[in-house]
Amino acid sequence: MSVEKSIEKLQELDEKLSALNYAQVLISWDAQTLAPKKSVKGRATALEGLSTYYYDTLISEEMKSVLNELEGEIEKLSEIDAAKVRVLKTEYDKLAKVPAKEYSAYNALITESSSAWEAANADNNFDTFAPYLEKVIEYNKKYIEYRDKGGHPYNTLLDDYEKDLTVETVDNFFNDLRKVLISLVKEIQKKPQVKLDFKGQKFEKTKQEEFSKFIMERLGFRMDCGVLSQSVHPFTNILSRDDVRITTHYYEDDFKSALLSTIHETGHAIFEQNIDPAYGLSIIATGTSMGIHESQSRLFENNFGRSYPFWQHYYDKLKGTFPEQLNQVQLDTFYKGINYVEASLIRTEADEVTYPLHVMVRYEIEKMIFENKVKVKELPELWREKYKEYLGICADKDSEGVLQDVHWSEGLFGYFPSYALGSAYSAQFENAMSKTINVQEKLQNGDFKDIVHWLNENIHRFGRTKTPNQILLDATGELFNPKYYIEYLTNKFTDMYK
Ligand code: ZN
Repeated sequence: MSVEKSIEKLQELDEKLSALNYAQVLISWDAQTLAPKKSVKGRATALEGLSTYYYDTLISEEMKSVLNELEGEIEKLSEIDAAKVRVLKTEYDKLAKVPAKEYSAYNALITESSSAWEAANADNNFDTFAPYLEKVIEYNKKYIEYRDKGGHPYNTLLDDYEKDLTVETVDNFFNDLRKVLISLVKEIQKKPQVKLDFKGQKFEKTKQEEFSKFIMERLGFRMDCGVLSQSVHPFTNILSRDDVRITTHYYEDDFKSALLSTIHETGHAIFEQNIDPAYGLSIIATGTSMGIHESQSRLFENNFGRSYPFWQHYYDKLKGTFPEQLNQVQLDTFYKGINYVEASLIRTEADEVTYPLHVMVRYEIEKMIFENKVKVKELPELWREKYKEYLGICADKDSEGVLQDVHWSEGLFGYFPSYALGSAYSAQFENAMSKTINVQEKLQNGDFKDIVHWLNENIHRFGRTKTPNQILLDATGELFNPKYYIEYLTNKFTDMYK
């Protein structure tokens, strides 16, 4: 085949995969927002069919020969085509050694294990979930053997979410961070803290939604290219750069949760809405990794949305929306209240300082699982031990302990570190941005134009054409450096309690 013909074929296969992905995402969006309760069975069959098509398209002789041919000619290809070859090759290699039968059996297992987890979580009964978890882990161990990246077995799993990330890097990062966090928490606990307490008050849903939409738009979300909806757990679904859907969850006794998660998901969405339109509907037209994605959502949520200058600008508007509840609350109190630090049991509700400790617990346990150092039945106890060690508290109920996250039931091992990594990247990006933009002043003026432009130019537009390491290097002048995150946390929280 000529190079031109191969490029044409590549384009065709890429579009086919993207179309299948589009359908799967739309079905999953529907499942989490509008679909009726009894739709599960039909949806599972439809999804199984689509994932089989996806596998057959990706792991096909056609794909193999096109990739082989174009890899040899990669120097001659346009940047976009070369990126498509690289990314499709990565995706191909991930699955090529996994037998088709095992892959589809695993997908079916994941559907079952997710619903087993849901029931176990609701009943606070780990034993009913354990047999499924055992099988999911077993598959992942086999998957590691099939793919074998070398070095620590967990490296293979890390690499799926953050290309080239290794146990060594994460270990070093967490070792440095742990020391700082433990002493920071101790210092903070000595100081009187401010907790916002709205007992007995009501924040109407419609008003919360109105304010959420107002902030989204101000931050730069293109409202005609996405929607804000509701779901139990907030998330972002990406169909294309012109259709990015986010959700939030409103609690009528507290406005903070929905507001901060809307800002978080808006960070994810703005990333996707600004991917280079020249990529079209393609495997390269999405954020490059979980860590880089989380860096954007956490930058918006924490570095902006929990910052003093941000609320210097928007607090009056928020007070105008909820005058009865907030008129007596001073800006300073409000700021400290949304940054309240407390060792808690649930990761998703943790503050900025203790959050990474929750991630470290999961990371340590996952490493032990893949080093064959712990059995599934020992996990609830190990979880309690680690929480005691890292946070000084532990849950009586497994639903607030080992059963709290959906990730393991879906086979997402190696995913958790990207949350902590994302926070650290965001500090590194903010530092780089500060060299040309007065970020604090922009926040104080509620002006995000230059900030978002910087993010677009240095991160968003590239989609998957760059690896996480390339993005970091090009945008900040160095590879991952946890120093900025450690400085950010130390400065912010010592300043707040001085
Ligand atoms: Zn996120």
